[in-house]
Amino acid sequence: MSDTLWAPWRMEYVLSLKERKGCIFCAFPGHGVESFRKDLVLVVQPHALVCLNLYPFAAGHVLVCPRRHVSKLEELADDEYDAFMRLVRVTVGRLDAVNCPDAMNVGMNLGKAAGAGIADHLHAHVVPRWVGDQSFMPVIADTRVMPEHLDATWLRLRPAFDDVPGEKASLP
Ligand SMILES: [Zn+2]
Repeated sequence: MSDTLWAPWRMEYVLSLKERKGCIFCAFPGHGVESFRKDLVLVVQPHALVCLNLYPFAAGHVLVCPRRHVSKLEELADDEYDAFMRLVRVTVGRLDAVNCPDAMNVGMNLGKAAGAGIADHLHAHVVPRWVGDQSFMPVIADTRVMPEHLDATWLRLRPAFDDVPGEKASLP
């Protein structure tokens, strides 16, 4: 499949998640707003939150998830679903404005067999894409994704959520 991104760190990601206790999406809000930068969280709302993917397919790859720990879309109440989907829409708009990608992938992997790294807690991927990015992916895939790169991404994206309702870390 020519449009499948080659990302060898995914296996390491899956293995590290297996060792992790508890659910990171549930844990982030409890760490408090002062930990949002370290946790790479962009905004926390009553029913949904946005954070950076720790192992991005592309710069600005973020995850949007409902606050409640459910694995299936149909387990969300209408107000939870609405808040989740509205936050996906907002996130797409903000990433478009900040990153100016040529295109975006927006989607959900429902269940482990579908590729979900965290299958127990529903989440949507929003991935900015650029024409020709498949040719640079194998290059960056060989490079460890350094925490400072993710921090730089967080610093670039965080201001775009300034007027989005919810809890946000203050900017340095
Ligand atoms: Zn959870």
